[in-house]
Amino acid sequence: METKMNVKLIGHSINPELMIATAGKLCYSPSNIEALMEKQTDESVERFVNMLVSMGHESPLEHANFTFAVEGVSRSLTHQLVRHRIASYSQQSQRYVKETQFEYVVPKDIANNIHLKKHYEKHMQESQELYNEIVANLIVDYVYDEVHYGKYLNKQIKRLKIDTSEFCLWCDKWFMNSSMIEQLKKDYKKLYSILEKKAIENARYIFPNACETKIICTMNLRTLINFCHHRCCRRAQEEINELAWAMVEEIEKVSPLLAKSLGASCQFGPCPEGSMCCMQPYPKKSV
Ligand SMILES: Cc1cc2nc3c(=O)[nH]c(=O)nc-3n(C[C@H](O)[C@H](O)[C@H](O)COP(=O)(O)OP(=O)(O)OC[C@H]3O[C@@H](n4cnc5c(N)ncnc54)[C@H](O)[C@@H]3O)c2cc1C
Repeated sequence: METKMNVKLIGHSINPELMIATAGKLCYSPSNIEALMEKQTDESVERFVNMLVSMGHESPLEHANFTFAVEGVSRSLTHQLVRHRIASYSQQSQRYVKETQFEYVVPKDIANNIHLKKHYEKHMQESQELYNEIVANLIVDYVYDEVHYGKYLNKQIKRLKIDTSEFCLWCDKWFMNSSMIEQLKKDYKKLYSILEKKAIENARYIFPNACETKIICTMNLRTLINFCHHRCCRRAQEEINELAWAMVEEIEKVSPLLAKSLGASCQFGPCPEGSMCCMQPYPKKSV
């Protein structure tokens, strides 16, 4: 099933502009911190934040944090996202969450070609079917191995106090089938969930990069500026480019002042891409 990107700012530092301006002013002021905070007006905060950003005095920007919920994006995107190391991430795990019907992202160029889109969707469907088959077969293998060799689950079985002699009824591999799995699911829920987890962490290897994922990501303003310089750029891949601009839009809703510092590199100075420059610079931004 095809999915769509959904990006929401779900949390941020209280009064991030005042926090940044206070941290910046403290570097140059003999005053105590409370007095510094009380003295500031909206105008002085704006002036000071702009000054810090434009002169590249960036460490005070680290005091403002923003947390985004990102859904409906591909594993391909999140692989690029987590390369931005100065940030915090929590991503839905394919080890622990079973994909009963995985969703996937279709890149626009493929979506626009009816023939390719059909093949693409077929490949996704086949991936799901192979995944289901691997999970079911591995569970059978694990039960078989357990009964014959006590190979994987000895400790868990002891803890769950399960009488494995019952499994001997199923112990001939050739008779293990879907009804055995159903029985295992019904009568030995805990054991089944151990076996299933072990099976899905192996089966997930067949999933494509297109597979939908969900991630929570926290960045401070300094990291966000660096992230946007790279990923709002037209050279960034389309999907992460869309994410970067969606994050800028979310920041605009809570702090138009801080959002002014976010955008592609070319909006703040010369393009750093050299011969790879797209030659379509975005309008300059002034901070
Ligand atoms: C268009 C594009 C194409 C790309 N292509 C590739 C590719 O082909 N292959 C590939 O591997 N990556 C590629 N990348 C990823 C890129 O190289 C960076 O890894 C990614 O953009 C994260 O940037 P960053 O390191 O500045 O961010 P962060 O990891 O958030 O780091 C922020 C800043 O902290 C400093 N910093 C962080 N860690 C260190 C450190 N260990 N030592 C010194 N300073 C540090 C640096 O100043 C850095 O800029 C591409 C990125 C883009 C935008």
